[in-house]
Amino acid sequence: MSLTLAPLPFALNALAPHMSQETLEIHHGKHHKAYVDKLNTLTPGTRYEGKSLEAIVKMSFDAGDHVVFNNAAQVFNHDFFWNSLKPAGGGEPTGSLRTALDEKFGSFDAFKAAFKEAALGQFGSGWAWLCYNIDGLTITKTSNAETPLLVNSRLLMTCDVWEHAYYVDYRNRRADFVDVFLNHLVNWDFAQANYDAATAHFKAVLEKQEATQAALEQDVA
Ligand code: ZN
Repeated sequence: MSLTLAPLPFALNALAPHMSQETLEIHHGKHHKAYVDKLNTLTPGTRYEGKSLEAIVKMSFDAGDHVVFNNAAQVFNHDFFWNSLKPAGGGEPTGSLRTALDEKFGSFDAFKAAFKEAALGQFGSGWAWLCYNIDGLTITKTSNAETPLLVNSRLLMTCDVWEHAYYVDYRNRRADFVDVFLNHLVNWDFAQANYDAATAHFKAVLEKQEATQAALEQDVA
């Protein structure tokens, strides 16, 4: 079964003026679609056929199948990016994620500065991410199609810093685009839901480790 291009979770004109309809038509309708179409030419009759997108990303990376990996990861990253945006987004998160951001970075403004630094510091095409792993909240950047999914990080939200994400609306001004992303576009509800799932996941992992340790200690005694 071939993969289909997931529809945008909002109308084409819903993010204007911060992200124009023209940008979404090109970015989703051409760039994202091209990765889906290319992947669909690569997987039939291979061991990737019938596997989930996430499985294809991990399997192809491990196998060094660069073409499959680049297209599969770009499909995954873009699906995640569209969900990281919402009409009238941005602003400041509330709830447990906000508390955790304040604790980790010192303040929400300090978080924004660190995220922007990662987004601007990514040389060439790539992605800036807010993730959660065993060390808690982390900001990371990845190059080209790479994704923190590969290092067992839980993804909370991402900003696409490929030039195709901003050249129509902001020309070469990546910094302006990242400011607009943080102030008007980022979907904190999506990030909070991912944060809830990530903290529950790592809590369960920790509890399992503790139970295993306690059982080992009992065996020794
Ligand atoms: Zn993109």
